[in-house]
Amino acid sequence: MNAIVSLRRQLHANPELAGHESETARTLVDFFRPLLPDEIIGGLGGHGLAITFSGQAPGPAILLRCELDALPIQETNDVSHRSRFDGVSHKCGHDGHMAILAAVGAALAKRRPARGRVILLFQPAEETGEGAAGVMRDSRFAEMRPDFCFALHNLPGYPLGEVILRAGTFACGSRGMCVRLTGKTAHAAQPESGISPAGAMCRIIDGLAGLQAGGSGETAFVTIAGARLGEKAFGTAPGHAAIWATLRAEKDETMRELVTLSERIVHEAAADAGITGSIEYEDVFPATVNALDAVEIVRASAAPLPVREMERPFRWSEDFGRFARVAPSALFGIGAGETVPDLHNPDYDFPDDLISIAAELYMRIIVRACESRGTSPEEKR
Ligand SMILES: [Zn+2]
Ligand SMILES: [Zn+2]
Repeated sequence: MNAIVSLRRQLHANPELAGHESETARTLVDFFRPLLPDEIIGGLGGHGLAITFSGQAPGPAILLRCELDALPIQETNDVSHRSRFDGVSHKCGHDGHMAILAAVGAALAKRRPARGRVILLFQPAEETGEGAAGVMRDSRFAEMRPDFCFALHNLPGYPLGEVILRAGTFACGSRGMCVRLTGKTAHAAQPESGISPAGAMCRIIDGLAGLQAGGSGETAFVTIAGARLGEKAFGTAPGHAAIWATLRAEKDETMRELVTLSERIVHEAAADAGITGSIEYEDVFPATVNALDAVEIVRASAAPLPVREMERPFRWSEDFGRFARVAPSALFGIGAGETVPDLHNPDYDFPDDLISIAAELYMRIIVRACESRGTSPEEKR
């Protein structure tokens, strides 16, 4: 078996959750060290790694990003490289994305870019939406000053190797809203002496689920992810409730509108019921908005792979969107095959055949991106 495929399977067998990817990072450093990259930076935003291969001449810095983390899902596959850990597995294909960048690194070690440099970024904690922000808070990331950032995500349901593009929003922004309602607990025989949040909770759930925002045809909606009222205690009239909802929008400005409308529903329902309502957010992902010139580089590099242009953004979220604030960026999809189980499903496994297809695409992207910018005096190796 080729070394890259066996690396992919080793990563698959040893998955680690967001924020805990220390062994994954160590495995990658062990893989890359013999390739003699110009720099290996560890501990980025947690267990993140940046591995740089510099060219012969100064030129642009091209950043390729993949993810380190696995998911809290029990694997149901019975393959020899199945997850060794109960309840944790690579069900988003991040093992495959890492293997793709490993293959790119192996190719760059044999043949350096003509000019500029390539930064292979292994980002931690993508699934929680914390990793990209963590990496970008590190001053060592600021010094990298990429001129372009690219990332791909494998997409089951599309033909193997098909390149899936969209300029503008590629993936929606989303955020988890945690609502806490506090009334007053009472004896179930005297509910009138307490204040139950039940009515406000129902009103909020109905209100959030029906919310609309943004322009017509724009993706913007709220999903009720869960709710809880009191406890299973028949002697008690509840005084507490919680609602968890996911807000989703294709534009960050529409997300702000959705947040304002959602918070108004919560506060009005709580005030009318004479209870307090508080709101916190988790898993915050900005919309991933692709730059035209970065998408054009991917489009022009795709051949011989077929290209599909998406009319609508994907509804799921990706924290790669944060890199768009640093440099022209593009996240694109690459088909994982039409019969592959969906992402985050317990029987999903990244298709090994996609590794070399995607790595070769990245090599074409690197060549084109390096050519796309002239060498200005401040450009650096
Ligand atoms: Zn995922
Ligand atoms: Zn993913």
